[in-house]
Amino acid sequence: MVLSNSYARLPEHFFARLEPVPVARPRLIQLNQGLAAQLGLELSGLDADGAAALFAGNRLPPGAEPIAMAYAGHQFGHFVPQLGDGRAILLGEVRDLDGVRRDLQLKGSGRTPFSRNGDGRAPMGPVLREYLVSEAMHALGVAATRALAAVASGESVHRVQRLPGAILTRVAASHVRVGTFQYFAARGDVDATRRLADYVIERHYPDCRAARSPYLALLRAATARQSRLIASWMHVGFVHGVMNTDNMSIAGETIDFGPCAFMDAYDPATVFSSIDTFGRYAYASQPLIAQWNLARFAETLLPLLDPVPARAAELAEEAVAGFAAGFAEHWLAGMRTKLGLFSAESGDLALVRQLFDAMQRNRADFTLTFRRLCDAAVNEQADADLHVLFANPSEYADWAATWRSRLAREPRAPEVRTERMRRANPAFIPRNHRVEQVIQAAVEREDFGPFVELLLVLSRPYEDQAGFEAYAEAPQADERVLRTFCGT
Ligand code: AMP
Ligand code: MG
Repeated sequence: MVLSNSYARLPEHFFARLEPVPVARPRLIQLNQGLAAQLGLELSGLDADGAAALFAGNRLPPGAEPIAMAYAGHQFGHFVPQLGDGRAILLGEVRDLDGVRRDLQLKGSGRTPFSRNGDGRAPMGPVLREYLVSEAMHALGVAATRALAAVASGESVHRVQRLPGAILTRVAASHVRVGTFQYFAARGDVDATRRLADYVIERHYPDCRAARSPYLALLRAATARQSRLIASWMHVGFVHGVMNTDNMSIAGETIDFGPCAFMDAYDPATVFSSIDTFGRYAYASQPLIAQWNLARFAETLLPLLDPVPARAAELAEEAVAGFAAGFAEHWLAGMRTKLGLFSAESGDLALVRQLFDAMQRNRADFTLTFRRLCDAAVNEQADADLHVLFANPSEYADWAATWRSRLAREPRAPEVRTERMRRANPAFIPRNHRVEQVIQAAVEREDFGPFVELLLVLSRPYEDQAGFEAYAEAPQADERVLRTFCGT
């Protein structure tokens, strides 16, 4: 593997040049062979120790020009003018088999000029969590950064207690964030903002080049991608947990899997993150927050949109407002598919809302409800499996009667319907209690078997997997995980 480094060609104040800090005894936990193949990485000459040294940052791949990227960001609504990669190093880029340039980044690779008070390291728990959840998201069909490798550092990190350290190798379309634009805009550096926008257009939105106003086209296109992304989160019950502007990728991928989690019982107010005291990033708030973040992005582009400030503001507002319509459209289209509806009727939105209301009142499990509807859509006998999910089964039965009369107006054959529903309603998501269990086994007993098994199950989320049914189940009352931590 030979890296190239387009980001390192940008002006020197976009980043700091430095190498990862080597770790004591790197040991390979997991290498994503499928992803390595997709990236065209030639790793066959590498044994486990060689891979560990490489993905720990102890040995640099040929062509690497390691940098820590500068960025700013709104954290829980408060602007911080300088954040940056405090514990990450961008090694460089590779071209995947489709010719797309992808970043290789080490996370947990030591202190950088952006570390502030942090140690630059990552505990093993959050590394394994990001590995699992980002790979699960990808398998679910949600745009997300990927995990290429996890390496135990052989060093401990000190948080509330001593924990084993680890390093994650992350693969992303790029690591440019809303906060990257904010870093330059906050300094009044219009030239840098333009350079960054040009870079992003070139790399992620090449169609915008031909537009009459490429920067406005960029804002519209990035907004459109976010509306699709957030809708896809909502369809699988994902709660990101820290939607700060520095954690929103301009390329439209889910990025930074800190305290993220999937909900079990449906509740729009679901919050897992221990630091999200006021529920700013609750499940149902995610679309609004995404639009708020896009407004911050738009602000950085104002000087590029029009020389007349009022006109620039008008263009920006209109572009960002497009989020709501785009989101509503993607969301409803996806919900129709989840319910087995191929045609569109005006009453569909109400039908979806009625289901969610009943699920919320009855604490029905999000994932199980939709998965079981796949059978119920073709076989009324399967209703029994849904009744048990609702505290008051008659609420399901009432809704199902309306749903069935709607399904009766669908032209497609039932087998087609159920098949398509099965590809929209996963059986397997990274259930929080499962994620915690495998992390515990790894951290406390150095047993990575459960991690590997869960990873395997999550790689085929839409297939029933004989022998692994337990992974589809909701947590028992005593297994429920209500709080998650960033572990930063
Ligand atoms: P996050 O909450 O992971 O999105 O990180 C927010 C900011 O804190 C980013 O600038 C990170 O680079 C920085 N950060 C998080 N953890 C550490 C750490 N252990 N050492 C240094 N910087 C960190
Ligand atoms: Mg972050």
